[in-house]
Amino acid sequence: MDFQNILSDQRNLFNSQKTKNLKFRKMYLEKLKEVLLKNEELLYDSIFKDFGKSKFDTFTTEISFVLKDIDYFLKNLNSLAKPKKVRTNLANQLGSSKIYPEPLGCTLVIGAWNYPYQLSLSPVVAALAAGNTCILKPSEIAENTMKAMAKIINENFPKDYFYVAEGGIEETTEILKQKFDKIFFTGSPKVGQIIYEAAAKHLTPVTLELGGKSPAIVTSSANFDVAAKRIVWGKFLNAGQTCVAPDYILVDEKVKDSFLDSLQSYIQKFNYHSESENYTQIINQRNFDRLVNLIDQEKVYFGGKTDAAKRYIEPTIMHDVTWNDKVMQEEIFGPILPVLTFKNFNEALLQIAAYEKPLSAYLFSDNSEEKEEFTIKISFGGGCINDVVMHLSNDYLPFGGVGNSGIGNYHGKYGFDAFSHQKAVLDRATWGEPDLKYPPYTDKKLNW
Ligand code: NAD
Repeated sequence: MDFQNILSDQRNLFNSQKTKNLKFRKMYLEKLKEVLLKNEELLYDSIFKDFGKSKFDTFTTEISFVLKDIDYFLKNLNSLAKPKKVRTNLANQLGSSKIYPEPLGCTLVIGAWNYPYQLSLSPVVAALAAGNTCILKPSEIAENTMKAMAKIINENFPKDYFYVAEGGIEETTEILKQKFDKIFFTGSPKVGQIIYEAAAKHLTPVTLELGGKSPAIVTSSANFDVAAKRIVWGKFLNAGQTCVAPDYILVDEKVKDSFLDSLQSYIQKFNYHSESENYTQIINQRNFDRLVNLIDQEKVYFGGKTDAAKRYIEPTIMHDVTWNDKVMQEEIFGPILPVLTFKNFNEALLQIAAYEKPLSAYLFSDNSEEKEEFTIKISFGGGCINDVVMHLSNDYLPFGGVGNSGIGNYHGKYGFDAFSHQKAVLDRATWGEPDLKYPPYTDKKLNW
């Protein structure tokens, strides 16, 4: 497909002003909803082919997310798009000042494979709601979902408004040579750098939703039962292939043994095993091999079994892990949970701060001082106290990383802002103006 022509057609459409019309935006948001619902079975099937994932999981972590976003924008678009009146300072009287949210223009969304519908289509929904055109490049790694998106979108949407480009690194590299008005990328920090460099050539603004090693701290004051239940759910959801999954645990050494016990009992209760439809496969052989290589069998506390034919890795807890172990040198992105210990809380915070800033961080504690120190002393994109992952489901919170885990954020209003320019306009009256700012600059004016 000739991306240059598609982009040039999208630019013509954008310049025609049509995409700025609120009725036009709403009509296509409705259409997207209709197309997704009409093709629900194809969406479930393709996820099943890529991940062996259940309908329930696919609905709750993928489709319902996108539908919720569409509904949010249908309901809130008028107020989000409305110019906001702000105060006008004395020097600009008589005048009025407004901020106009303006669509950036032609946008490119590059998705990740781990939640392929949510992570590709949610940014697209925000881009279209904000009045832009969009080219989406889903991840080729989740091949069946990429093909499903290309089919249902390209058959139902005009290419000069919203188009799904298929392909891998070669095609993405080609697309990135074009000048976009915004690039929204979800993926690894390593590829994030490539995207940022390509965007810099055209001074294109970016949102980079990246990853990192997200810690979960469990202190002696925590409710262990709740902590274990929530951590096991958030870690092994999608077999750990979740950007905000707790990557590792830092537990107070005094309570380590009983906490390990609680973790194990929840893995068993949740009945995660190779035949379970509640448990997901590893996406491909390359990631399977990478993950198997991170498991140190001598440090396995629970799990550790693998099956290459099924790309299955049992939920695995490793204990007696040190900061020098292989599993602590990279983002795990799979169902392996290393448990490290700390003697005092401040030491735990210092250890986290020695790593790159993570996308998320979690604290399980019942102590208000610990909660405050966790929130203030370490930097992370977003997180929870006494839970994991769920902060991303609250659209009133911005979702994004900081430092190595990303630039910018989205969800709800923040998604609209990510794809908008805030145009500042001062509208002045043509009367009632003091002569002060105009030459000749006399001493009298200086001493005013
Ligand atoms: P990835 O960076 O390998 O790939 C992401 C996208 O980049 C894909 O569409 C791929 O085609 C493209 N790509 C890969 N190599 C490229 C290259 N050389 N040039 C141009 N494009 C290229 O990431 P992934 O394996 O899909 O996902 C895993 C990573 O993404 C993890 O680090 C995870 O934490 C992160 N992630 C972050 C979020 C978030 O919301 N912040 C969500 C999911 C995943």
